[in-house]
Amino acid sequence: MPGQTMSDGAGRQGRAGRFRFVFPPARGYAGPVNGSRSSPSPERVGDLGERGLIRRLAARVGRGRDVARGIGDDCAVVRVRGAAWDWLLTTDPVIEGVHFLPDTPGRRIGHKAAGRVISDIAAMGGEPLHVLFDLVAPPAASVRRIEDIYRGATALCARHGAAIVGGDVARGPRLELHAFAVGRVERGRAVLRRGARPGDVIHVTGRLGGSILGRHLAFEPRVEAGRWIARGGWATSMMDVSDGLASDLRRILEESRVGADLDAARIPVSAAARRLRDGRGALDHALGDGEDFELLFTVSKSRATAFARAWRRAFPALPATPIGVVTPARGRLMLRRDGSAGPVGRGYEHFVT
Ligand SMILES: [Mg+2]
Repeated sequence: MPGQTMSDGAGRQGRAGRFRFVFPPARGYAGPVNGSRSSPSPERVGDLGERGLIRRLAARVGRGRDVARGIGDDCAVVRVRGAAWDWLLTTDPVIEGVHFLPDTPGRRIGHKAAGRVISDIAAMGGEPLHVLFDLVAPPAASVRRIEDIYRGATALCARHGAAIVGGDVARGPRLELHAFAVGRVERGRAVLRRGARPGDVIHVTGRLGGSILGRHLAFEPRVEAGRWIARGGWATSMMDVSDGLASDLRRILEESRVGADLDAARIPVSAAARRLRDGRGALDHALGDGEDFELLFTVSKSRATAFARAWRRAFPALPATPIGVVTPARGRLMLRRDGSAGPVGRGYEHFVT
């Protein structure tokens, strides 16, 4: 692995004399433009929310060469001229206290970190190939625990044909694992979030909700299913359920400029969601909980019957449940229940509390 020295997480100069970037003040800079010493209260990340922040940043980064799909999907899609495959690029952090606890077994942490990025590649219909990890650890962290993390990550990667090929290590106040993955998909076959059309049937694999009871550390990314869907050209849009069904479906609706009607009775609720006793109903957990890492996708109405038949043959043990339809009502997500319909509440969103 390159760069095995522990660099200072706070960015101070280490004894080895590493490069340091210093941002010089702009020429002629003489304090705030309006001359006042006090600036207005700064906008906070929590006010903007994850999507608002990403939108803001996306507007600043421009567009690179060979980019078939940039910010706004599970992976970026890079198309190299003349190549038979498109590259899929994605990255994701898991952080102590946010995604796992100080007593979470190391293997589970590694499994989760690798699983999240591999799930993003599955959600594009791709084949995972290579994974890099940046590890941030306090000096007091147990080496054995960190070895266990890599054991868990390696095992999951190996099951899906991917290899860990590098990364870096840095010192920091808490354990963090930042995964970066590369995959590939047949040229032009990546399934994006923006292809859903009115009339399409919305499907989800597996069962949803209650991942906090253990599944968020033990899920298996749906690589085989994603590959099958992409190769058959079955889906008009697809993503993985990482932030919760309602929240993630909204992203498909936004990107595709459509709406959706969900049928409450058809949403596949997990046994874990029914076991939770926290005042929220099982359906609420299935709609709002994150980290199920199932596939959420749309199939055109004319192919829905053929899809159901082919799916059952290909995946007899994994349900792909039709849970609703795409509507032309742009941005509107409705839930039909007991003969009435109402708007769906917001799912979990990072930063917003
Ligand atoms: Mg995703």
